This record gives sequence, structure tokens and C-alpha cells, in this order.
Amino acid sequence: MNAQQPMLRDVKHIDWEPLMAERTKRMKSSVIRELLKLTVKPDIISFAGGLPAPEFFPVREFDEACQHILSTCGPQSLQYSTTEGHAPLREWLAESMRKYGIDVEPDNILMTNGSQQALDLIGKIFVDPGDCILTSAPTYLGALQAWNAYEASYQTIELDDEGMPVEGIPEIVKKHHPRLVYVLPNFHNPGGVTTPLARRERLVEMARKHDLILIEDDPYGELRYDGEDVTPIFRLAPERTIYLSTFSKTLAPGIRLAWIVAPKAVIAKLVQAKQGADLQTGTFVQLITHDICQRGILKSHVKKLRVVYKERRDAMLAALDKHWPSSCAWTRPQGGLFLWASVPKSVDTAELLVKATEKKVAFVPGFAFYPDEKQGRNTMRLNFSNATLEQIQEGIRRLGTVLNETL
Ligand code: PMP
Repeated sequence: MNAQQPMLRDVKHIDWEPLMAERTKRMKSSVIRELLKLTVKPDIISFAGGLPAPEFFPVREFDEACQHILSTCGPQSLQYSTTEGHAPLREWLAESMRKYGIDVEPDNILMTNGSQQALDLIGKIFVDPGDCILTSAPTYLGALQAWNAYEASYQTIELDDEGMPVEGIPEIVKKHHPRLVYVLPNFHNPGGVTTPLARRERLVEMARKHDLILIEDDPYGELRYDGEDVTPIFRLAPERTIYLSTFSKTLAPGIRLAWIVAPKAVIAKLVQAKQGADLQTGTFVQLITHDICQRGILKSHVKKLRVVYKERRDAMLAALDKHWPSSCAWTRPQGGLFLWASVPKSVDTAELLVKATEKKVAFVPGFAFYPDEKQGRNTMRLNFSNATLEQIQEGIRRLGTVLNETL
């Protein structure tokens, strides 16, 4: 290299922020990510992440599927392919969703790099700066991050034991004109609650009356530990629902594979949006996942996960009953990976987290899941999938001690 040329580390740095697009001003690195850095030390019992249990990832099955795909499909498995996604996998998904009464064709399905990309693409095609999105408070943090980049604004309705109440919708429609309503009807992240059929039907009625688009985010639907499956919103209103699901929680999040189900006109626009983003979801990963699905491995794996996660959920609920003060409350999720706890209003859970990490235990303070971070200050999300039974008992006991000391 020519010695005259400056090295990057020696030059005067440009102030980049003013040179960036207006929309980047909403892309703040979240306070929560900073707080969570406290929680990733190896000796901490963490209920903070949303991680599946890695000890159950089907490693051997992935190994076999890789060998099988490379030997049967050869170089084609490493080639570019279509933006819509691997056709046999989309056919398999269409078939398996019929179990839930979702009657769709493969052309109603677009494969994405995780549901996170699906949320981003939805923002890209539906959200103009200032557009209002209606959702619950709390809601999924990743959706807010995706849509902040498109300069969305939010109106929220406080979550209750049955998900997002719908009676307040007409008033919000009148004042703020949202077009999108974002809901998580099965085992809400972070709330842990499930919306019963009657409320889903009411929501659909209102969506039809006010011409709203429903975004149904369903990463956890397969992970039900008690009770009966509830009809998906997509089935109730296929003309106006965009349904999202993912292999992240049922197989492994590292494969980054998910899918969107929507009317064909929406899929067509999402395909154009995805082309500009990444051309396509990885060919190889889709072939492998299809191999795993069609050999019945996904089904038996989910069956195993249901047993393990149910045990962990029950252990967490029992430990909470035993160790936490009676002034606290928590949800009793029928599935998914999280429960949601409220402590007395005098306690700020962001401050509590600092004390908790001193006792080597962590959670996510609830404010992170609200568009307005002044809300939810006395709440927290607890993940039960990524800790052993012993860690759950010990971690919840330690949190009980911290709470008793604070109160
Ligand atoms: N939506 C919800 C409600 C989630 O909980 C998650 C994962 N935490 C996602 C979307 C994103 O999942 P993926 O790994 O498929 O991107």
C-alpha cells in the first residue's frame, strides 16, 4: 500500500449523523439493549432473552438433511432461486396450515429471512411517514423497531388477560385514522396472554367496518401446552389479514426462516420489496428445512418441545407462587416462551434490574415493550424456555428476595 495514503484510524472523522436520511433519527439503539448487556455474563441466570433452548436444537437432523440435500440436489442447492421461496416448501406450508383452517395456495406465501424481515417488508409497503399503527401496549419490541424506520406513529390499547381489547378501536379510528392493526393473538410476546375466539371475531367485525388491515403475528402458535387451539384471525378475515409465522421457535432461530401469508396482491408487492432488500431467502436453508419438514421431523420435534417448555413454564409459575410477594401478579400463559409480571407501582423495574443483576439474575423491564417508555415502569417480561428447572427455581427465588428487599 502507498505510504502516502491515510489510514482510517489516523484521519479526522466526519460527523456522519447529519448526513443520514431523516428516518434514521428514529433508529435509536435502544436503552434496553444497553441494559441487557448487564445480563449476558455467564454466571447470570437470565430470563431476559427470547431464546429457545439450544440443548434441544435438532443438530443431528440438520446434519443429515445437509448431506441428503447436497447429495440429491447437488450444486442447484447452492444456486440463486426465486424471491417467493422454494415452491415445495411453500406447498408443504400451505398444506400444514390447513390444519388450522387456513385455506391458502402456495402463491399466498412468501418466505422471509425471519419474521423480523416480514415486519420490515410490511413497513416498507404500507407505512408512509407519520402513518398510525394501532397495537397493544405492551407489544412486540421488534415490530416497533422495524416500523420506527418507516417513521410510523402508534396508538395503543392496554393489553388485558385476553389480549388487546377492541372496544376502543372506533374512537382511535376516528381521531388517528390507523390503517394497520398489529396483534399477537397466541401467547402474546411479551404479555403471555391468548385472545379468545369471541374477541377475535369482534376485532374482525371492526376491521371490516373501518376498513383496517390486520397483521397477525404468530411465532408461538405451535407451542401450546394446555387448552385448545383458537381459530386464527386469518381464517376469520382472509381478505384483510397478513399472517406471519416462523421456524425460529419450532426448529432454530439461526436458520432465519419464516413466512408471510397474505392475499396475492399483497404478496406481489412484498416480493418487489424483498427483491430490493435481499433478492431471496437462502436456497440451501429452504431446501434443508423442507427436507426436515417432509420427513416428519418438525412435527416430532415440536411435540418434544411442548413437553420441555410446559415443564419449565410450570416450574416458573410454581416458583413465583412460592417466592414472590403477594402484591405482585403475573400471567399464566397457555403456551409460548414468556410470562408477564407486574409489581407494585412504587417499583421501577429498570432500577430493579440493576439490583437483580447484582444477585446474578436478569429479566427485561416492561417499559421496553411500550412505544411510550414512560409506561409499563412496574412490569417485566420473564422467559422460561432458556433456563433449566434448577435455574428457574433459583432465579425466581433470587428475584423474590430482591423484590422483598425493595418493597
Ligand atoms: N414476532 C414476534 C412476536 C417475536 O417474538 C419474534 C421473535 N422474538 C419475531 C416476530 C421475529 O422472529 P424471527 O426470528 O422469525 O425473525
